[in-house]
Amino acid sequence: MLEDNINIVRAKINKALAQRKTKKLTGDKVTIVAVTKNHPVQVVTEALEAGLQNIGENRVQEAKGKRELLPNGGIWHLIGHLQTNKTKQAVELFDIIESVDSEKVLTAINKEAGKIGKVQDILLQVNVAREEQKSGFLQEEFVALLPKLHVFDKVRVRGLMVIAQATDNPEETKPVFADGYENFLLLQNQVGAGYCDILSMGMTHDYWVAVEEGANSIRLGTALFGLRDYSIK
Ligand SMILES: *Cc1c(COP(=O)(O)O)cnc(C)c1O
Repeated sequence: MLEDNINIVRAKINKALAQRKTKKLTGDKVTIVAVTKNHPVQVVTEALEAGLQNIGENRVQEAKGKRELLPNGGIWHLIGHLQTNKTKQAVELFDIIESVDSEKVLTAINKEAGKIGKVQDILLQVNVAREEQKSGFLQEEFVALLPKLHVFDKVRVRGLMVIAQATDNPEETKPVFADGYENFLLLQNQVGAGYCDILSMGMTHDYWVAVEEGANSIRLGTALFGLRDYSIK
């Protein structure tokens, strides 16, 4: 089942990459982050066994429970909003925090990482679609942050995370992902392209559009594992 779903996703990615080449965007590798939130730990094990090494969770507590059962497996990504009182746990737990959505969160992560001698990999979440109910830096906040990034010396800014608006027509997300790509170039220009190499855009309903527009990391739950069971916390 999972293998079949991965094959379907890979085929769609390859098609999108072929489209991308015609647009002269760079890069042809796409990482699948398997979003296992609201699924039991067995699903994480299945993902790892199927070769999906990157695991995405949106709640610190839920991820902690799972990771304690699987101490050696996977590269764990936090993809949900981080409450500042959970920062210490998040820094201890996650290999990469994708959902850094404010200077307050960035400051807290930098501080906690410093305390335990870690350099925390992060992505900046930019609310390109300017949706009020979504978190993330607005475009102008992101641009204002760029020259200040060097101050946060206990984090490594690996790139950006962008969530497009929900829509019945995935093609409508194109401009949002295209803006995401432009912002990624701005970021690389600021911090150097060396380790700033992740553009996380696209989920089940729009990942192929995101890949066409330059995403090299996509976050997939439903496409891999089917519908979530929200009674699982
Ligand atoms: C839940 C979630 C996903 C995965 O959503 P699907 O539609 O199931 O692929 C991706 N990104 C974020 C930030 C999420 O919270």
